Amino acid sequence: MAEKKIPLNREQLEALTERFPTPFHIYDEKAIRENAQRLKAAFAWNPGFKEYFAVKAAPNPYLMKILKAEGFGADCSSLPELMLAESIGLSGEEIILSANDMPANELVKATELGAIINLDDISHIEYLEQCAGLPEAISIRYNPGPLKSGNTIIGHPEEAKYGFTREQLFEGYRILRDKGVKRFGLHTMVASNELDGSYFVETAHILFDLVAELSTELGVKVEFINIGGGIGIPYKPEEQAVDLTFVGEGIRELYEEKIEKAGLAPLDLNMECGRMITGPYGWLVSRVLHEKNTYKQFVGLDACMTNLMRPALYGAYHHITVSGKEDASCDFVCDVTGSLCENNDKFAIDRAIPKVDIGDLVVIHDAGAHGHAMGFNYNAKLRSAELLLREDGEVVQIRRAETVEDYFATLDFKGLQSFES
Ligand SMILES: *Cc1c(COP(=O)(O)O)cnc(C)c1O
Repeated sequence: MAEKKIPLNREQLEALTERFPTPFHIYDEKAIRENAQRLKAAFAWNPGFKEYFAVKAAPNPYLMKILKAEGFGADCSSLPELMLAESIGLSGEEIILSANDMPANELVKATELGAIINLDDISHIEYLEQCAGLPEAISIRYNPGPLKSGNTIIGHPEEAKYGFTREQLFEGYRILRDKGVKRFGLHTMVASNELDGSYFVETAHILFDLVAELSTELGVKVEFINIGGGIGIPYKPEEQAVDLTFVGEGIRELYEEKIEKAGLAPLDLNMECGRMITGPYGWLVSRVLHEKNTYKQFVGLDACMTNLMRPALYGAYHHITVSGKEDASCDFVCDVTGSLCENNDKFAIDRAIPKVDIGDLVVIHDAGAHGHAMGFNYNAKLRSAELLLREDGEVVQIRRAETVEDYFATLDFKGLQSFES
């Protein structure tokens, strides 16, 4: 079983809390870089390989800048995310807008940036043409429907709101071709947090077959395929990370057979993973405020589901350790809660952890993706800070905690004074 560790011991964390009060998220730069390099190595056989980091997983420009230095682009799903990508110097086809139900301002901004637009619906061809004009290069998101099983987060593909059906896909490329679009991409994403590597090989297989069909039936030469994100991470200590070399080699074999032999090479392989890029290398650090014993044993933290909502949202497992008590036996069964007025504000239910004391620092693991990013302000909770452990051991703040002033910033108190109630 893999032991889950934060690269800071109790003394170091305590010292950090003097500068940055809990709760906070902290990310490990060295581990993020090494992981990025492992991903690139697994696909180095494909000269056009590119990972577009799914910004929504951890929309922080410092993290994005690290990933840019490792050669990653950005996969954006909103106007501010496109602006974040722009702010770190990404441009043109280093950016992909891969969202759904997209408003005109996103499509306009993506067009201005020269980003790749990944269309989610056939009706969006006309919508895009009207609001921003059709670009020279475009991508289409395919939904294989009953041809592929999904998983719990995305659901069955035919129930999912994403992508074109198979017929619409052929029709869509035909329309785009006839309208003068010159370069084409093909995208699909049907899984989220998937730990079975063969799933991604299978996804590439489906897309390779489509690339061949599009070539014969429409004379459309697909230049890049994007197999989406969705590579899972082992949230539970007994789970295994996806073997990237297995996925890379599996896709390479299919590429040789389906693409090279058919004269369809070169075909660039793209990905837009978020979770597996930063997830395991970020932690939520929080302090025990209270212990409560009623019909159950509760441990109350100074963090709550506004800092990390995955457990409350999907019943997701996040491993919990107590700093300085890594070797203590886990014989204290409790619910680890936050302070929100929602009974599902629990980081863990009936979890066996070491006996905690008030004031202990609790570490919630695998919070580096869809963690701070999913933060919200319900109960007027303020969003916490984000810190980065640099490669030289220094810790820097990459986003400050919100203040009460931030919370009030969208309210007009001058108007309130003259407001007759
Ligand atoms: C969420 C999302 C991703 C990233 O998914 P991960 O599970 O974080 O890898 C990639 N592409 C699209 C279109 C998404 O919606």
